[in-house]
Amino acid sequence: MIGQRKIELKTPAQIKTMRRAGLVLAKALDAAQAAVKPGVTTADLDKAFRAVLEAEGAKSNFLGYYDFPATICVSVNEEVVHGIPGSRVLEEGDILSIDGGAIVDGWHSDSARTVFVGQADPEDQRLSDITEEAMWAGIAAAATATHVGQIGDAIDDFVSEQPGAPLGILEDYVGHGIGSAMHQAPDVLNYRTGHKGAKIKPGLCLAIEPMLVRGTIATKTLADDWTVVTRDRRRTAQFEHTLVVTEDGAEILTLP
Ligand code: MG
Ligand code: MG
Repeated sequence: MIGQRKIELKTPAQIKTMRRAGLVLAKALDAAQAAVKPGVTTADLDKAFRAVLEAEGAKSNFLGYYDFPATICVSVNEEVVHGIPGSRVLEEGDILSIDGGAIVDGWHSDSARTVFVGQADPEDQRLSDITEEAMWAGIAAAATATHVGQIGDAIDDFVSEQPGAPLGILEDYVGHGIGSAMHQAPDVLNYRTGHKGAKIKPGLCLAIEPMLVRGTIATKTLADDWTVVTRDRRRTAQFEHTLVVTEDGAEILTLP
């Protein structure tokens, strides 16, 4: 997936454009999230998202990516990532992650959130809350760390410190650098590896996107060649933001 190995550090002007791409994306994800209710299809969410990109004059970085047919991935219940919007009808109690991106003047944003259809199962809510907090732990680490590996360390430590039933951190899918392409170096792992990873410098833009599961972390890809599910069919959650590392911390580009 990641073709570009050289790390791209952004100029202030480029970061400004990336922030525009991030704000359009936040608005489009809001629209998709607002459309979530029992009885709507996952294609309806794609439609709501796509309408905002079009109204804002932004392009989709998902549509056509390795021939992906939609502007968002919608992954429901046991689906982990890369769910294709379509005729699936959302039902009360479903947990879904909506992952989208936007391009403005050639610069990319990428963000995901987990939402519920109606009332959440308490254990799903816990899964979602810990996943979101794990993302923030990773973002906080990115703001202060010297190397990318410390982001995974922080996420891993945060998740393993949680009381109650242990949650798994998926290892098959990871965060990434982002900028003039959606997926760039470096990889941003969500777990502790013992490797330092790339140096963190001002101007580095990263998408941090932990995926947690209530069961075991083994996944498989379905026959549509996109949709990834947990092998044990247990539920999953994901949160993602795009950020830029600054001289004195980090700024989240996909948060208004
Ligand atoms: Mg994403
Ligand atoms: Mg991403």
